[in-house]
Amino acid sequence: MTPPRLNELRCPGCQQISWFIDADYRGMDGVKLPFDKRWYTCPHCRRDHQGWTLGQQSPAEFLLQPSRSAPMSQADFDYWVGILRTHFPTHSALSRLGTTFFPFLPEEAEARAKALASAHPVIEMRDQDGARCYEPDLRIAREWLDVMKPGDSLTFWHRDGGFLQLTLDDSSYSGSCVNATGMAVSQALNLNAESTRTAIERYLSGEWTDFPRNRIADAGFLSRIWNQLIDRFSETPK
Ligand SMILES: [Zn+2]
Repeated sequence: MTPPRLNELRCPGCQQISWFIDADYRGMDGVKLPFDKRWYTCPHCRRDHQGWTLGQQSPAEFLLQPSRSAPMSQADFDYWVGILRTHFPTHSALSRLGTTFFPFLPEEAEARAKALASAHPVIEMRDQDGARCYEPDLRIAREWLDVMKPGDSLTFWHRDGGFLQLTLDDSSYSGSCVNATGMAVSQALNLNAESTRTAIERYLSGEWTDFPRNRIADAGFLSRIWNQLIDRFSETPK
């Protein structure tokens, strides 16, 4: 089933244009009944017909605005509000115009996606067996860390293609961080549990990856920065 949308149809009898609100897919059966096979009563010649010719169609989500999954520009929205006003002046959406009926703008969608990406710089956590967690938070990352056995590893995949990998050796962790270009930017051995948690926390917050990449092109400098960061949590196990 798809949402009902505005359809411009030409009557096969009198050739006049009329507008009908109808869904492309009306039911759950996955069958799309073509518009020329549908029966509509023509408001002009008053006859029931099949064989209508489809003209313009509003976006399927027009009447569902604001729709986060289907952003619409203000100009598009205004155009379809104009059609709605002209051909369906009593439609309930018109009484909600500007309050609960307004477009979810593409620029809002983009800002939202960016905010979401910066809130979740790590897109996936994966363990040594391939178990995955999408957009892990610190709580779940700690849970996974707590159940690691010697030889196990956790990999945090950054949205930019880099990753942080932590492996539990006998009694301490080792970590490596690889940037988006595949270059190992830092490695650490003998991390204790607390340092490992701190490393994960920083990586999940995006703190490690944000500052050097865009401003400093020099790889040597980048490595030094990374090593300084690693040093902050690289201690001998207690
Ligand atoms: Zn007609």
